[in-house]
Amino acid sequence: MADLKEDLYMRNNLRENESYESMNCPVCDSNNPKQFMNMGKFNYVKCKNCDLIYQNSQPVFEHLLDRYDENYFEYEVNNHENFFKLQLFTLKDIGFESQYFPANGKKFLDIGCATGLLLAYVKKLGFAEYGIELCEESAKYAVEKNHVNVINTTLEEAGFEDNFFDVIHFSHLIEHLKDVRGFVAEVVRVLAPGGTIIVTTPRIDSPGFRLFRKQWRSAIPDHLQLFSKKTLEALLRDHGFQIEFQESWGFIPIDSRLRFVKKLADRYAKRFNRGDVICVVAKKTLQMD
Ligand SMILES: [Zn+2]
Repeated sequence: MADLKEDLYMRNNLRENESYESMNCPVCDSNNPKQFMNMGKFNYVKCKNCDLIYQNSQPVFEHLLDRYDENYFEYEVNNHENFFKLQLFTLKDIGFESQYFPANGKKFLDIGCATGLLLAYVKKLGFAEYGIELCEESAKYAVEKNHVNVINTTLEEAGFEDNFFDVIHFSHLIEHLKDVRGFVAEVVRVLAPGGTIIVTTPRIDSPGFRLFRKQWRSAIPDHLQLFSKKTLEALLRDHGFQIEFQESWGFIPIDSRLRFVKKLADRYAKRFNRGDVICVVAKKTLQMD
């Protein structure tokens, strides 16, 4: 497999016409950052108020949209089997089937569903499947090849009814978003009281990041913010979620030539919850409005 980080980095670095804007903290909205890590073409700061690591400045939204084009589709199609396999491991760890099966038509939304493999899986389990995908080609592929219900838009634009979904899943999405708080507020609105979210994102408070720093697999132009366990859980709690489960895994990039080292390091990361990818499962509390 090609070096994914290198691919993404090159692709983004080739974009010369993006306009950038200065940002308040995407999570707490304060304007009190300190320098964290200069990546050359982009720059990470750390919010002194809530500790979130985020890019400042960032491309304006219209230019960000342009990144999710045919090249992005190619990247997703080349990797969707691997991504799906990892998602299945996570669902197994959180007891997804034993907790929710039989699904009995419960509504499952996958935001950033890519080519729809996960949706096809939950559909088979008996969920009513809904997908949101910003990349037009990926959305089309999901509908035509995987026969799942996907719309090509953002969550905010989709305009679902209040309290509509029983489960909302978003994997490797939240770190790409321009408006994190607006997004989480919309998730809360469309999730039924007592409903569950399953969130997966890179984890910066990890030995993986401390070892690789600028070379870390998740320090890439498309990752506008990088969460720690603390900042992710704080974001969810601030929106009224109750954390039910949390785990982390992963250490060495998948394309590493040091397969033996990778195996040992990955095993260590998962066992001791020190991985550089974190999954949090949380429930929308019943008294929320
Ligand atoms: Zn902040």
